[in-house]
Amino acid sequence: MIHILDLHDRAPRVIASFVLETKAGPVLFETGPESRFSVLLDGLNALGYAASDIRHVFVTHIHLDHAGAAWRMAERGATIYVHPRGAPHLIDPSKLWASATRIYGEQMEALWGRMGYVPEEQVEIIEDGEVFRVGEFEIKALETPGHAYHHHAFLIGDALIGGDVTGVKIGRGPVLPPCPPPEIHIETWLQSIAKIRTLNPRKLYLTHFGQTEDVAAHLSALEAKLLEWADWIKQKLKAGQTREQMVLEFEAYVAATLRAAGLSEEEVQEYEFADPSWMSVDGLVRYWNKHHPEEVMS
Ligand SMILES: [Zn+2]
Repeated sequence: MIHILDLHDRAPRVIASFVLETKAGPVLFETGPESRFSVLLDGLNALGYAASDIRHVFVTHIHLDHAGAAWRMAERGATIYVHPRGAPHLIDPSKLWASATRIYGEQMEALWGRMGYVPEEQVEIIEDGEVFRVGEFEIKALETPGHAYHHHAFLIGDALIGGDVTGVKIGRGPVLPPCPPPEIHIETWLQSIAKIRTLNPRKLYLTHFGQTEDVAAHLSALEAKLLEWADWIKQKLKAGQTREQMVLEFEAYVAATLRAAGLSEEEVQEYEFADPSWMSVDGLVRYWNKHHPEEVMS
């Protein structure tokens, strides 16, 4: 049984954590940001658990909306399972915080809370394909880069905890690809989607937000939208647009897509919280300039 906890980050349905109940105790997937830690504790309490009952915490990657409260769980005794390239940033988060501060500036604390480190002996590095048995369940780690170099999805039976590589989909809205800098890589993201497809999971759990059982259609729509967004940015770069112009137009373009799908202004706002348009502009601009500069010369 996998429970979805809503961390209520500025709105409902923006960031989730997941609790897998096993005969050997609960396992937590994704901690959310430190700023929402008290809400995570409330969610655990509502299921009948204290934070100290959680011995195992798996994070898909170390972005602050997914693993920002990992150190808080470690303080209460949990082991944090993380990608080899993510582990150094849990043990010494100063670089990660410096780079997030460059992006978020003064909003840093309000959005993400406080910085803390996970003691090295409580970090368990996980490799692609590695299987962890907890109680009656096997948790298989799948390296799934594209959104970030250091990203895992976790397969539990026929359910997949997809992190950000399986996209953002809120309620009845469409699936969108979160494309923040600095590690977006379209080709490897497409390979990760193909890898997930071959596993044929019946259910996807999305950090942003919840779950979907329409897996094949979801993955195809994600793939199409990723290519569409990448091409949109490519055309604007070729036309010599400034970042400011691109951000304005891209925000309007994404909001129009969501409104056309029948979403209310509140729902459009939930998407903007979970997957800010300006951030995807920056991520995709960086992708083109770094990996295919010859294709975007204006
Ligand atoms: Zn995220």
